[in-house]
Amino acid sequence: MQGKKIAIIGGGPAGLMAADALSGTGHAVTVYDAMPTVSRKFLLAGKSGLNITHSEDYDRFVTRYGTATARLRPALDGFTPADVQRWAADLGTETFTGSSGRVFPTAMKASPLLRAWLRRLEARGVRILTRHRWAGFAENGFVFDMPDGPNIIDCDAALLALGGASWPRLGSDGGWTAWLSGKGVDIAAFRPANCGFDVAWDDGFKERFAGQPVKSVTATSGAGTFPGEFVITRNGIEGSLVYTHAASLRDRLESEDRAALMLDLAPGRSVERLARDLARQDSKASFANRLRKGAGIDGVKIALLRAFAPPAALADPERLARLIKSLPLAVLRPRPIAEAISSAGGIRLDAIDDGYMLKALPGVFAAGEMLDWEAPTGGYLLTACFATGRAAARGMEAWLDR
Ligand SMILES: Cc1cc2nc3c(=O)[nH]c(=O)nc-3n(C[C@H](O)[C@H](O)[C@H](O)COP(=O)(O)OP(=O)(O)OC[C@H]3O[C@@H](n4cnc5c(N)ncnc54)[C@H](O)[C@@H]3O)c2cc1C
Repeated sequence: MQGKKIAIIGGGPAGLMAADALSGTGHAVTVYDAMPTVSRKFLLAGKSGLNITHSEDYDRFVTRYGTATARLRPALDGFTPADVQRWAADLGTETFTGSSGRVFPTAMKASPLLRAWLRRLEARGVRILTRHRWAGFAENGFVFDMPDGPNIIDCDAALLALGGASWPRLGSDGGWTAWLSGKGVDIAAFRPANCGFDVAWDDGFKERFAGQPVKSVTATSGAGTFPGEFVITRNGIEGSLVYTHAASLRDRLESEDRAALMLDLAPGRSVERLARDLARQDSKASFANRLRKGAGIDGVKIALLRAFAPPAALADPERLARLIKSLPLAVLRPRPIAEAISSAGGIRLDAIDDGYMLKALPGVFAAGEMLDWEAPTGGYLLTACFATGRAAARGMEAWLDR
């Protein structure tokens, strides 16, 4: 097979992984990225500890992609969490598994891994051109805004890895949707995923508790019941436990216009025990003291009870006990997509074939977060971006070789 000209548009984890898989195949691979440097979101992801994949049982792991699991499974089978760790080790980045099963580079950050990755890609002949923004289609190729003005780039095959629509200032702004839908590619509207939610705090609550963590609770939504913690913000709630429930809360808000996260403020204590212990408290003691002594809760948890429990229930030990175990924290709306960790929506999986080629645009492939799947935080996002990048590269090779 003669070397072909391949354009990979988007230099995030999905695009670079596709370039990795295509390097050394004899093709001329060029990665184009709009930003002055590639993989800005990957680098930001490493700021608070790069959670690169997850170590849980693989059959459980694949279920994290919900309704997209069946479609993504062949790609994930081709690049499993163990492969992610081997790939990182190959680039000199050892990983470790945290107590939650999440896998991190020992250095926690993304920069050493990215540096080694870019060095290897360049050593294998991959060209990386930054400040090259794809701006739509021309009859004879792809239009790019380049430092010297607009240009048309022609290629034998192209792979789009333009990311989702969260954190647009890092490069992935979803600006491509109209160009693809104009070509008949079916695209689902972008929605925030792994996001915080607005809550109608009163001013006093906001002033006093914004920035405070709510620890050692469990939270229940349609997604299930999970232990963890979250943070009170001026607008509402953020943090890993909220992100776990975000898709369920978002979907409920869309279908029913209201949704609540059910909090258990005293996991480990039964309703019966709480009711008994609360009933024993001195009725002349303050509400806060009765809760501290009778239920072992204080501070922000008491404030949450005051904010969301009907006032009459606070005086009744049995009702109060039930509310401590199941307090409905009503959320108003997801925070804007620009603040979300990731996005749902994008190119519908039905619009690509098994080789990740767009059915409406032969020779054009797509991978990563620009495809319509979502997953919780925990390393699932990056793993699927890597895996779909590799699957699209394999699909492209097979197509070029046909
Ligand atoms: C704060 C934060 C923390 C995160 N932490 C984690 C984590 O710990 N673990 C995890 O698994 N995931 C995490 N994620 C999610 C993860 O970073 C993304 O899912 C992943 O980066 C998506 O990869 P991608 O290659 O599909 O897209 P992106 O990383 O978004 O890359 C897309 C690239 O395309 C370029 N591009 C866009 N439009 C154009 C255009 N028109 N022309 C040319 N180039 C263009 C962009 O500049 C960008 O470089 C985090 C995300 C955020 C925001």
